[in-house]
Amino acid sequence: MTTDLAAPPSGSLAQRLGHVQATIAKAARRVGRAPAEIALVAVSKTHDAGAVAAAIAAGQWRFGENRVQEAEAKFPALKQAHQALDLHLIGPLQTNKVKDACALFDVIQTLDRERLARALADQGARSGRLPRLYVQVNTGEEPQKAGCLPRDTGRFLTLCRTDYGLAVEGLMCIPPVDQEPALHFALLRQLARDNGLAGLSMGMSHDYERAVEFGATLVRVGTAIFGRRA
Ligand SMILES: *Cc1c(COP(=O)(O)O)cnc(C)c1O
Repeated sequence: MTTDLAAPPSGSLAQRLGHVQATIAKAARRVGRAPAEIALVAVSKTHDAGAVAAAIAAGQWRFGENRVQEAEAKFPALKQAHQALDLHLIGPLQTNKVKDACALFDVIQTLDRERLARALADQGARSGRLPRLYVQVNTGEEPQKAGCLPRDTGRFLTLCRTDYGLAVEGLMCIPPVDQEPALHFALLRQLARDNGLAGLSMGMSHDYERAVEFGATLVRVGTAIFGRRA
């Protein structure tokens, strides 16, 4: 892993974006993957609409936000102006926010419990459309972290598909900060294979190269693009 990602990002936003894209492409080629298989989600949480607009001007159109309310303050106008924007919810979703989340987000990466599956299915029935869905897996089995447990993932996916009629595109994880991420990436990849899922959302600023080597199809990068968060 390179250490320059740990340093405060330098250069213009466009340069940093270019560097991340190039790093993804290099990591992909190292393991015989086509760079086009990996989509970059630029995580814009805490950064304002101006920063997002600068990223759009530099050619980035896929973004990630942690909170429904924060995204609602930033993205509706941008989405109106840029139809191709692809907005991902990567933070926990409360069931009372499902309607708002479905109205704004194109992808929800944090489906992790039956109550939420039911609320999403109800919303889909009411509105006739749903965002694309990823199931979050708590690969480190950390009590404070969201996500279904690895051993429950197969059962939960079956529940989503058969009981609630939800189409799930892939799995997402956030490895524990103090552990080798590769172990968690490998586990998530295996769970996806076992369950016939093609999508793998894994890898952040400090470990996205490794995630690409382990099969990520979506990487979620904030700091390396937008700089440190306040
Ligand atoms: C904040 C966040 C990221 C981006 O983290 P960086 O280290 O800034 O790249 C990715 N995924 C999730 C779920 C996050 O909350």
